[in-house]
Amino acid sequence: MNLGGMMTGRGLIDDLSIRTSSTILLAVIDGVGDLPIEELDGRTPLEAAATPNLDSLACLSSLGQHVPVARGITPGSGPAHLALFGYDPLEHHIGRGVLSALGVGFDLLPGDLAARINFCTVGEDGTVTDRRAGRISTEACRELIGDLSEIEIEGVELHLMPVREHRACVVFRGEGLSDSLSDTDPGLVGRKPLPVTAGNPDAERTAEIVREFSAKASRLLEGKNPANQILLRGFALHGSWKTMEERFGLRAAVVALYPMYRGVSSLVGMDVIVPSPDDIHGEVLAVRDAISDGYTFTFMHHKPTDSAGEDGDCRAKIGAIEAFDRIIPELLLAGPDVLCVTGDHCTPCGMKLHSWHPVPLLLYGGPQRTGCSTAFSERAALAGSIGTIRAVELMTILMASAGKLAKYGA
Ligand code: ZN
Repeated sequence: MNLGGMMTGRGLIDDLSIRTSSTILLAVIDGVGDLPIEELDGRTPLEAAATPNLDSLACLSSLGQHVPVARGITPGSGPAHLALFGYDPLEHHIGRGVLSALGVGFDLLPGDLAARINFCTVGEDGTVTDRRAGRISTEACRELIGDLSEIEIEGVELHLMPVREHRACVVFRGEGLSDSLSDTDPGLVGRKPLPVTAGNPDAERTAEIVREFSAKASRLLEGKNPANQILLRGFALHGSWKTMEERFGLRAAVVALYPMYRGVSSLVGMDVIVPSPDDIHGEVLAVRDAISDGYTFTFMHHKPTDSAGEDGDCRAKIGAIEAFDRIIPELLLAGPDVLCVTGDHCTPCGMKLHSWHPVPLLLYGGPQRTGCSTAFSERAALAGSIGTIRAVELMTILMASAGKLAKYGA
């Protein structure tokens, strides 16, 4: 029995979803949740911030909190967002190659095969002596990627991108590629890079292509020091998941300033709307356009809270929360039937890292059990009428609030 499925309602939401014209706006304040901070007299940034709009909305909303992946588990932003979109991150793994390509803002298309590249050093006997090529500079990495960009392979288009230090990324674009491939990274020094092998007969042609790429890269890097070879890992195909349209009947769009969030959203089939101007006001305009253009699900992303949390700067985090609060009236004017404000995870300023703590959420619009809250904060969320849910359950509640779920059984 799949208890995970029962707990999350996964399957139910797919089966019961109804296509209607009602609209959902999911506004994610990245890393919004925090812990009490001494400098703020024991308040969190969300409690210390002046948020008149969120607070008055809280009176008319249901509040609660979500656990991003599982209790005690600290998530990356990728899996945390997938959960909010109704995709259980424990079942939907974002391949490392795909995440790398998304992270550098590469516009992946369905069917693209992405992999991570590590520049490494091999000795005269062909064994790896340094799996990170002495952590070459990002600049050196960029130059090497420039050298490798002359590689041509019949039947595929190659895209190479530097990432950071010895790390880079490759995307193979062509028909019928497979990600059922083994890594070439032996994982240890003193061993030779492994040949790419196909996990099944359908992957054989792709393995051949990757072997040719590896061999050509080796020839181009021969004699260089310290990066004279590449290791490939994390092969992942883009776009093999069911889209939100297929699963929930939602026409979905993403409004985000950072490429990585557009990338994660496009994994589940959201259309990317690029804000203009490239700031929070551009985002508001893009949200308004998306809703008036008939998108029934719009995801909007607000990043500065997470950056401030990672910098340990609680004043900057307060400022970022207040900036978001100021756009609330405009978001409401855009006319979503249901508005959800939450974070993808907590980024406590005292930790300067993502954390596992539950994340406050506010749900406005549709039939809600209101009257329980007068402010939007971690404490208010804990006492809210939604209670504590797993993030992956949020989409079911959003769909229900928007009148998009049929009754279960007679
Ligand atoms: Zn995040």
